[in-house]
Amino acid sequence: MSVPEPQWRQAVHQLTSAERVALACHVMPDGDALGSMLALGAALRSQGTQVVASWGGSPFEVPASYAYLPFLDLLVRPEDFPEVPELLVTLDCAHPRRLGSLQGRLATAGCTVVMDHHAAGTRYGDLNLVDEQAAATVVLVSELLDRLEVPLTAELAIPLYTGLVTDTGSFRHRSTTPAVHQLAARLLSTGIRHDLITRSIYDTAPFGRVQLLGRVCARARLEPEAVGGLGLVWTVVDLEDLASTGLRLADVEGVVDVLRSTQEAEVAAVLKASPDDGGWVVSTRSRDAVDVGAVCSALGGGGHFSAAGFSATGEPAHVLARLRDALADAAHVSPRARTA
Ligand code: MN
Repeated sequence: MSVPEPQWRQAVHQLTSAERVALACHVMPDGDALGSMLALGAALRSQGTQVVASWGGSPFEVPASYAYLPFLDLLVRPEDFPEVPELLVTLDCAHPRRLGSLQGRLATAGCTVVMDHHAAGTRYGDLNLVDEQAAATVVLVSELLDRLEVPLTAELAIPLYTGLVTDTGSFRHRSTTPAVHQLAARLLSTGIRHDLITRSIYDTAPFGRVQLLGRVCARARLEPEAVGGLGLVWTVVDLEDLASTGLRLADVEGVVDVLRSTQEAEVAAVLKASPDDGGWVVSTRSRDAVDVGAVCSALGGGGHFSAAGFSATGEPAHVLARLRDALADAAHVSPRARTA
């Protein structure tokens, strides 16, 4: 459902009357979380508003592949985030728990605006600019910037394009509508170097990443009987993999996108060891039949139909067993699975 007009009008009123605005995106931010937050932050700052932006999780590091983003000076560490925000805007954050250590600000903020495009359970704000049909949160931010009459500069187009290209999987996912390409055309017409953006996101990494891909792909397992017979392919990235290749957790984001090409598997999953808490960050992708967003929500995480994740603790075998059970249940209930 698209955003009702009164919600837009009230959000514009709140954003133009607030002196200070605090922005927060989901923990372990991706291109859409960072891009939507930085574009909105820079736009508001250009209109004279005091803006800070953050996310409530460690590590508080911008992944190296997003280091080209402008407006990173808007970022403050979560411990420096205002205790009582005058106006709080959350971006690309489907559930309060995805705010991590900043979740408590929902209770103290004078007003909360939620900008998001995830399906289900996302309307926890006083105002909700939520559209499950939108391909990315940057689509909503770009409409908001138009309504705020902020001129679209090349510098603003860079974070907006970043969110659009990453959330559509480089314009490959089903969410890639004519409107997505129209927005992309508008962003490109500002003169941005889209080739440099996508090269940084997808095609630039330390040599250690190639070595790590070799290691973790060599130990990948295919389970044709899993997911109700639709197949599961999975692998593990452990602490030793990270230590021996000198990579950080944020650097191994793309492993699941290598596994997902496995044609014998409906679902791909990667368990990544988290050096901070000794737990696991699990990324999942589905081909067409199983809603991994619902599966990961049931396991305490979230995401979209074909791309989602969750965090877990315990032995990897135990984490995998829980995932296998949830995927089998999902394959059982999904009408698209039955007809696949
Ligand atoms: Mn998104």
